[in-house]
Amino acid sequence: MTASDTDTTLTWRQRAAQLRPRTQVYIDGRFLPAHDGRTFETSDPATGAVIARVARGGQHEVDDAVASARRAFASGCWSDLTPRARRETLLALADLIETHAAELALLESLDGGKLIAQTTTEDVPGTAAIFRWYAEALDKVYGEVAPTGGDDLAIVTREPLGVVGAVIPWNYPLEMAAWKLAPALAAGNSVVLKPAEETPLSALRLAELATEAGLPDGVLNVVPGFGAEAGQALGRHPDVDSLTFTGSTAVGRMFLEYAGQSNMKQVWLECGGKSANIIFDDVADLDRAIEHAAQGIFALSGQVCSANSRLLVQRSIYDRVVEGVVAHARALRVGDPLDERTEMGPLVSTQQLQRVGRHVSIGAEEATLATGGGRPNGLNGDCAEGSFLEPTVFTDVAPDATIAVEEIFGPVLAVMPFDTEQQAIEVANASEYGLAASVWTDSIHRARRVSRRLSAGTVSVNTVDALDVMVPFGGVRQSGFGRDLSLHALDKFTALKTTWFAAED
Ligand code: NAD
Repeated sequence: MTASDTDTTLTWRQRAAQLRPRTQVYIDGRFLPAHDGRTFETSDPATGAVIARVARGGQHEVDDAVASARRAFASGCWSDLTPRARRETLLALADLIETHAAELALLESLDGGKLIAQTTTEDVPGTAAIFRWYAEALDKVYGEVAPTGGDDLAIVTREPLGVVGAVIPWNYPLEMAAWKLAPALAAGNSVVLKPAEETPLSALRLAELATEAGLPDGVLNVVPGFGAEAGQALGRHPDVDSLTFTGSTAVGRMFLEYAGQSNMKQVWLECGGKSANIIFDDVADLDRAIEHAAQGIFALSGQVCSANSRLLVQRSIYDRVVEGVVAHARALRVGDPLDERTEMGPLVSTQQLQRVGRHVSIGAEEATLATGGGRPNGLNGDCAEGSFLEPTVFTDVAPDATIAVEEIFGPVLAVMPFDTEQQAIEVANASEYGLAASVWTDSIHRARRVSRRLSAGTVSVNTVDALDVMVPFGGVRQSGFGRDLSLHALDKFTALKTTWFAAED
């Protein structure tokens, strides 16, 4: 256990200074430098300070990691264990995640600029819960017996695929890793994980904890590095059986090409979103709807794939909702994510700040800037160095405006009025994405009617962003395909196998 786990008398910043993060490639149960010694910097987005230099994995490391994963799979040291035996290891990992909760939360907050108030209460406990859920699920999943009749017997079983490649983004480094690792490992696969270059630290520690929990060497390998190097090498690798990706739609497309150009590996994509949040004027508790509308876009500085970035408001309540959302935006405490009072932290990097800033400039040309758009001061002037942006609200946005169409992935809300239910549905569906949507209404009939017509993987009624490990998550259209979470995630990590026992002639 590290000092950051124990010494609660220190501030989170002081505890962060004591962290000694793992920074090397994790292959075959061991930390190693990149073969050519190359490294890259990972920085604290709240201060711009370099946290560590991390091994820059590429083709060579991916080849080694896949070979290690294949050896482990073929040996049966994990894949041939009973689901119940695998369960014990994954439960032990969940326990270790909780034992090291403070350290993991700090790594997550420091590397990604995420609020410590959230990483301690949501990201880390959520990660442990996901491992627990899949650990417990697998010995309750039964196969099938086909209705052959006679003395023939045909059984259908779920078999692990072999080597799974997982490429994940920076917004939920631990939880995204768990979304992929927990079902893939529970099903008996070996995995090579490539975390995002902005946030490699927590995944490396997680892999070390997995070994401590009893996961055999080679079953989980982690290769930090850049997308165009390690990510591409994994996507094109001829010995990877399935590739599960979460990230942008542009990169998701590349993985389809990589698979087509290599071994036709299965590819599963969780990509971008531009979720619509629709508020009808029959909502009795409008204040609650307003509060959730603000939370739905400003949580994690809007860097959430399912962020409610388009707010559609019925015209009769439009002014009141705009006023309320703007007031929430102005009241948010922006600042150091390691200060527990902070309500919104920085964007993940200066590049991301620049990208979002470009959209803010475009928005100022095509709509009304109601609040935000600049650099905040922070609680104690602590936003001077980091990649901070004020919570930003644009009103009277046309449905086809750039800021209403493109995924911004920042704390930028586009508000637009509508008159009829039909119009709201048409505007909400006029997007290349289809990840999530929200509907606020007190009419059960309208809730059912509208949610059925919204083209999205998840529709939340009278809340935003409803999510749980027990329900599937994923999109339609260019938000991707396949589902994370729930038992449906097993479709990504298992093959249905038919075994036919012929009757004697
Ligand atoms: P990104 O697509 O830039 O990167 C995601 C991962 O892909 C990273 O690990 C990166 O290194 C890798 N990568 C980048 N270029 C690559 C290439 N040429 N070849 C192979 N791999 C490559 O996305 P991001 O900026 O890290 O994350 C933001 C995006 O992720 C947003 O579009 C967001 O909507 C999406 N996202 C989706 C979900 C979901 O569940 N649908 C969840 C979180 C984030």
